[in-house]
Amino acid sequence: MKSYKEYLWFEVTKRQEFINITPKVREVVKKSGVKEGLCLVNAMHITASVFINDDESGLHSDLEKWLEKLAPHEPVSQYAHNKAEDNAAAHMKREIMGREVVVAISDGELDFGPWEQIFYGEFDGRRKKKALVKVIGE
Ligand code: ZN
Repeated sequence: MKSYKEYLWFEVTKRQEFINITPKVREVVKKSGVKEGLCLVNAMHITASVFINDDESGLHSDLEKWLEKLAPHEPVSQYAHNKAEDNAAAHMKREIMGREVVVAISDGELDFGPWEQIFYGEFDGRRKKKALVKVIGE
């Protein structure tokens, strides 16, 4: 069995942003040489997420509004976690959007359903962060 990994780095200037990382993940799969297998992508931070959905700006704006309703950033003082920091809402948003995704690799390609794309979701940006891409298979 082959195994290959790479880290993808992000310097997100805003607190919150969704980045389509599908082309970068595709490149890693190509480099791995794996034709049949699995590709795991996970955020390496507890205030960031990796998820799969449509690359449609209306949907992304809807997701941001929905997350803000579920875990509003302000007032910062509403969260016990914010005694030392101000990112409790970011931890919760990551919990809702998930830590990782696994995509099947068939015939050397990411085997997506219609419109599926992989996103890195940042909820506490303005510093350097990374995601892991791990490919296993034959
Ligand atoms: Zn924190």
